[in-house]
Amino acid sequence: MANIKAVRGTRDLLPPETALWNHVEAVARSVFARYGFGEIRTPVFEVTELFARGVGEETDIVAKEMYTWEDRGRAESDKGQSLTLRPENTAGVVRAYIEHKMAETGMLEKLFYIGPQFRRERPQRGRYRQFWQIGAEVLGPPWSGSDSALRDAEVLEMLATLLNELGIRGWRLALNSVGSAEDRARYSAALRSALQPVKYKLCEDNQRRAETNPLRVLDSKEEADQEIINALPKISEFWSEESRTHFEQVKAALNACGVPYFEEPRLVRGLDYYTRTTFEFTVPDGSGLGTQNALLGGGRYDGLSEMLGGPKAPGIGFAIGEDRLILTLQAQAKEVEAKKLDAFIAPMGLGQNPAALKLAQELRAAGLTIEVGEGSFRLKKSFEAADKLARKMVIVGEDEVSSGLFTVKDFAAGEQVKVARAELVGALKS
Ligand code: AMP
Repeated sequence: MANIKAVRGTRDLLPPETALWNHVEAVARSVFARYGFGEIRTPVFEVTELFARGVGEETDIVAKEMYTWEDRGRAESDKGQSLTLRPENTAGVVRAYIEHKMAETGMLEKLFYIGPQFRRERPQRGRYRQFWQIGAEVLGPPWSGSDSALRDAEVLEMLATLLNELGIRGWRLALNSVGSAEDRARYSAALRSALQPVKYKLCEDNQRRAETNPLRVLDSKEEADQEIINALPKISEFWSEESRTHFEQVKAALNACGVPYFEEPRLVRGLDYYTRTTFEFTVPDGSGLGTQNALLGGGRYDGLSEMLGGPKAPGIGFAIGEDRLILTLQAQAKEVEAKKLDAFIAPMGLGQNPAALKLAQELRAAGLTIEVGEGSFRLKKSFEAADKLARKMVIVGEDEVSSGLFTVKDFAAGEQVKVARAELVGALKS
């Protein structure tokens, strides 16, 4: 019989690597808390229409990469509906923002999430079909100050702090503005006409994008198309005065905080909802990501709430690819050292198993990390297992149980001592 394997593009995360995942998430939670963010957990699946409207029908995500199915009703009267595994989390957060009438507080909402996302992309190093994102969104009614450039700069400064605290080296922040929805529409039209006469020279994908979503052509990494793409009009030529000022304010605040960035006029990002500030953090080649060097991306989405039928609620957010963050940390040798347990309890003979388990129960209750062996093991086997897992080994035999004096082996010191039950917790901690 053929073995059943994890589905292509998905993978198991195992110890000790999961310790690194927990470390990353703990640092992220602590940074988010300092900036006043609270956690939101939205469902892993949503109605398909949320993404069609929120992300955009013409994006690669919605057009090609979603896991969508027709969910049948359970009763005759129950209508079926089209559902989709979330390919990203911003649409879900904004849906929840509207559904729970969060705008009514009149306050700025600062929400973060950590969870799996799903896209049917071609799997490769750093690109999976189930992957994790750590993200955050800041949104609120305009009178909460949600469209202020200060919010953009605060989010970017927070990301710089997070990457620095994690010890990511050599990150670069690429920054751009795609202007207001109107600027963007005018730019899109200009790109479409500029592409018209040269379109036939582009690769098939870019020919299609030139028609359906010309901004996406700018994202293209297709080598042969770069000359044409570099000669296309720049978004900055289409910024309104307001958009230009907003972008200047973001940069001024970043300069004040000493956050380094560079301007990347081609950075428009794939999703339809972005307006004004867009950004991406990348790491240098050789950071373990292969060709996928984007660690995280995000931007402002002033019209998204309204696109989803909600109130006016400008916002800005980002999503970090957690898998890529981990790969980078591993390549940059920031492995969290697997910690050894405090002690391994070795019962001498099957008859001592209950006493060994009871001792483990008491030591664990005292806060120690403990593994219990098995009474049928020979002493040599217990020693070998204990040496791999723990700093010390406690022998539980008939004599020990009746006398209350336990033999404790300390592997690092290479010594063996007798310890009274009352002193055992202290002896194992040291
Ligand atoms: P996006 O939602 O496309 O803006 O992506 C935000 C970040 O999520 C990217 O910068 C990547 O780090 C990460 N990401 C996106 N797609 C994948 C994927 N298929 N596998 C792993 N990470 C991904």
